Amino acid sequence: MTVTAIHTLPYQDLAAGLRGNLIRPGDPDYDESRAVYNGMIDKRPAAIVRCRDAADVVAAVNFARTHRIEIAVRGGGHHAAGFSVWTDALVIELSPMRSTTVDPARHTVRVDPGCTWGEVDHATVAFGMATPSGFIASTGVAGLALGGGIGYLSRRFGLTVDNLLAADVVLADGRFVTADASTHPDLFWALRGGGGNFGVVTSFTFGCHDIGEHGSVIGGPVFYDLADTAEVMRWYRTLLPSLPEELSGWLGLVTIPPAPPIPEQLWGRKSCAIVWCYTGPHDRAEQVLEPIRTFGAPLLVGLQEMPFTALQSAFDPLYPAGLQWYWRADMFGEITDEAIAVHERFGAQLPTGHSTMHLYPIDGAAARVAPDATAFAYRDGGWAGIIAGVDPDPANAEPIIRWTRDYWTQLHPTSAAART
Ligand SMILES: Cc1cc2nc3c(=O)[nH]c(=O)nc-3n(C[C@H](O)[C@H](O)[C@H](O)COP(=O)(O)OP(=O)(O)OC[C@H]3O[C@@H](n4cnc5c(N)ncnc54)[C@H](O)[C@@H]3O)c2cc1C
Repeated sequence: MTVTAIHTLPYQDLAAGLRGNLIRPGDPDYDESRAVYNGMIDKRPAAIVRCRDAADVVAAVNFARTHRIEIAVRGGGHHAAGFSVWTDALVIELSPMRSTTVDPARHTVRVDPGCTWGEVDHATVAFGMATPSGFIASTGVAGLALGGGIGYLSRRFGLTVDNLLAADVVLADGRFVTADASTHPDLFWALRGGGGNFGVVTSFTFGCHDIGEHGSVIGGPVFYDLADTAEVMRWYRTLLPSLPEELSGWLGLVTIPPAPPIPEQLWGRKSCAIVWCYTGPHDRAEQVLEPIRTFGAPLLVGLQEMPFTALQSAFDPLYPAGLQWYWRADMFGEITDEAIAVHERFGAQLPTGHSTMHLYPIDGAAARVAPDATAFAYRDGGWAGIIAGVDPDPANAEPIIRWTRDYWTQLHPTSAAART
């Protein structure tokens, strides 16, 4: 279909049948509505359907199929490559659908597809429970849950996909189905790690787990001097697998944020950091955290008791929507000495204050699931590693892209994919 034909489809007919609303190029809120989390993404959809319910989603899917126009589906809009908007496509925007329903007796939460994880944590932690998600609260539930979901609770309770109990889905032919372990099991398998390729999910039901003491955990960052990176990484790679699964911690090469409660003399200093989260009984916390409290010469130990919601959202203010992001990622079975040398080199060259490298544990309960049990196949243990060049200023796009690519190229030979 030509671009002209795409832009002259009878959108007014679609709009007339919606509970939500339709946004077209030239509408006052078009630019705001097509923007996603990554400020590098600049796509111009033919129309954006702001859905209020599953019926709106069915109407949008049927319209797109009838008129043979491409669809992009948007949950939280955090996808690094901006797959939730697309030029000349019909965007199915789910952010108006954001309710949550907790069932404390069954330990479940039913979640609308436009929710962020912060909204889900808000709903469940009030009951002392959580379902595994990621390490930041502003991420959308939908894309994370369909892609795998690695977070603080993964060592103890598995990935987000391992806690998905059921999903309501609008299929490409417009049918509405509920997929779970016994109904549409193939679809249910594919939804758990296969990304947004199998239909539009209009509701997720997750299992929840009691965490900490009524949702209060012990966690926070421990910052080390960047010069200690090799020592910290060698200690961490041996320590982590030996820790009880109630304790998890991701390692990052970061610039210490220039904001309270961090002491001013550390603001802007490059650091190797580990952010810990202990979700077990508090009377065991000191014993479990003892190896962390006694290791090395940290610049700052920020471990404290806090609601799980506070830890989950601790980094949200540092990374508001609209920054320029360039990502690369890999899985790592081991943190080898060769990898540590690369981390030391590129950590010293962090190109901007927001740029970072993270290693997220993917072991424990996440590694006990069979590789073919879900579409998320990497269950070998180890870490998911991400390198992200980030900056508010589009003028810095070139240096953050170059640093990320060079870092990834040097590190990739140590990844699980390259070593098999
Ligand atoms: C700052 C930041 C931190 C992150 N931290 C973590 C982390 O700790 N752990 C982790 O596992 N991941 C993390 N991620 C990655 C994150 O899981 C993915 O970017 C995920 O896609 C975000 O979900 P979303 O709904 O916001 O994405 P969107 O951009 O809205 O969508 C992502 C993909 O899913 C599809 N999709 C969205 N909604 C639906 C739906 N309802 N039905 C069908 N398909 C749909 C979209 O079409 C698109 O292809 C992080 C990302 C960012 C930017």
